[in-house]
Amino acid sequence: MSETAERKMQFLYALRSKGVTDNRVLSAMEAIDRGPFIRGIFADRAYEDMPLPIACGQTISQPSVVGLMTQALHISPRDKVLEVGTGSGYQAAILSRLARRVYTIDRHSRLVREARELFEQMGLTNITAITGDGSFGLADQAPFDRIIVTAAAEDPPGTLMDQLKEGGIMVVPVGQSDAVQHLIVVRKHAMGTEYEELRQVRFVPLLEGLGKDT
Ligand code: SAH
Repeated sequence: MSETAERKMQFLYALRSKGVTDNRVLSAMEAIDRGPFIRGIFADRAYEDMPLPIACGQTISQPSVVGLMTQALHISPRDKVLEVGTGSGYQAAILSRLARRVYTIDRHSRLVREARELFEQMGLTNITAITGDGSFGLADQAPFDRIIVTAAAEDPPGTLMDQLKEGGIMVVPVGQSDAVQHLIVVRKHAMGTEYEELRQVRFVPLLEGLGKDT
């Protein structure tokens, strides 16, 4: 077996062993190479199941966490999805294989610009990446079938809840910024909202306003 094929097999094996069992999610993660999303000295660790540093002091999430969050969204091919926290663009790229349309927002314009370049190179034409404060969502495009927040909030942001369709699902890490956070799945029904706790996670905090590019 070639080195690339073996690395890919190990990558998928690690995902499965950590609970990513949905075949559609696994094939999306097989199709999107994590390598190009990590630049610089950590590039050779792209296929390890670890979060890694990216520009602007942010992190690309751990692949198994990306898989579990994506799986929890139960995306259908007709869905319009909002991601808050573009970061490297890796999560958005995976969402784009499963959904009709993906909007992704980050407060760092540099991250948005670099992610856009990758989406273009990879031919992922159904993603729109925007610079802005994602805690206010994206009123122009609301409501969304699915919302994923990839930075930790103290509570599921109210504005995002309002921009979620009835019958919609939102996945969000909730907790104090430096402490352990809980990954919460929110289901919005006509009769009320249901919350499910998936597991403990550790994300960078959801911050207000725009970031300074570093
Ligand atoms: N999903 C990313 C990882 C995100 S890291 C990936 O696949 O690589 C969290 C990101 O959330 C950071 O890039 C940070 O800049 C962004 N962020 C934090 N607060 C934000 C806010 N209020 N609006 C938009 N983006 C925010």
